[in-house]
Amino acid sequence: MELWQQMIRQSVHTPDQLVEKFGIKKEIAERLDDFFQARINPYYLSLIRYEGDPIWKQCVPDEVELEDIDAPEDPLGEDDMSPVPNITHRYPDRALFLVNSQCGLYCRFCTRKRKVGDSSKISMKGLEAAFKYLEEHTEISDVILSGGDPLMLTDEMLEKILIRLRQIKHIQVIRLGSKMPCVLPHRITEKLCNMLKKYHPIYCNTHFNHPWEITEESKRACGMLADAGIPVGNQCVLMKGVNDDPETMRQLMKGLLAMRVRPYYIYMADLTKGANHFRTPISKGMEIIDNLRGHISGLAVPHFVIDAPGGGGKIPILPNYVVSQDEDKIILRNFKYNVYEYPDVKEENVSEVQESNMRKLKKNIEKHKRSYVRKVKLPIANNQLA
Ligand code: SF4
Repeated sequence: MELWQQMIRQSVHTPDQLVEKFGIKKEIAERLDDFFQARINPYYLSLIRYEGDPIWKQCVPDEVELEDIDAPEDPLGEDDMSPVPNITHRYPDRALFLVNSQCGLYCRFCTRKRKVGDSSKISMKGLEAAFKYLEEHTEISDVILSGGDPLMLTDEMLEKILIRLRQIKHIQVIRLGSKMPCVLPHRITEKLCNMLKKYHPIYCNTHFNHPWEITEESKRACGMLADAGIPVGNQCVLMKGVNDDPETMRQLMKGLLAMRVRPYYIYMADLTKGANHFRTPISKGMEIIDNLRGHISGLAVPHFVIDAPGGGGKIPILPNYVVSQDEDKIILRNFKYNVYEYPDVKEENVSEVQESNMRKLKKNIEKHKRSYVRKVKLPIANNQLA
């Protein structure tokens, strides 16, 4: 057994361990275990500095999770867009391929609680139908392996999947969605990297949320992936009490870049059962981006997105840099709030695609006459909607 597998075995996970380690009442610990089991491996546990700190909040079950049961089971509508088990096909040329139900840590904010940790929900039996779907859908050129965590598979099992994917000629890019470089960096071994580099192009999207997760071990793991030719990007979730202040995010983004990880997304927290206490106002995310863009290297500034409830996909949100706009010019403000004017060019013919997008947008706005939509400032001039 490899070191990382032994560490998984040594995780805190039973209600009795929750009582002993964190002083949770037994009855509450049992209810939390029923709701969403715990798994805190010894490495991640060692990152906790004090009770209730940003590391603790992400992994230690909390009674407050039991109060919040109204959110949908599947907030991103992944199951509605699942043509066969284990596959979600939302975007035209990309597919999400769930290959495993297990994770190195069970995050309390997880959006996929309904499946994670339950091998009957992400079953190895579904793999064959998934491969067949990917073979038949020649428009798919990019496959994201996720779960659970694909790096919870053994090297041998993961290699079998990669071999099958590489036999499908229209699949160009394979992405690994893995939290292991952050939560259990010991999983990134020479053996794993030597195996992965046979199947390029492979990218990895990992998930660091707080600067304390940047350690000598995680730097080593991310460096090994980069040395194996695997570009590593980071997706993080904006969470109250974890990273909802500009200075924490600045340190995180700079720390990631310094260990060769490119900040990719900051997500607004999803409307997930048991995770309402992590939600922040949208303005907090905009404030954070405003404090990053222009203040630190553009390489370290991620996109701030809302993964739209019900399967709308990732929608970028930006602080407002446009002061005003007319046919002749746009007035902008920069990161220091200084104001500049940029002269516009008149275009005789609006492209057909743009016209068709405008028609579609008008139609959809009509469909959604709810008040909040009318208040939204659309990213286009009003006269184009008339
Ligand atoms: S690693 Fe990802 S899938 Fe697993 S519990 Fe955490 S957020 Fe959920």
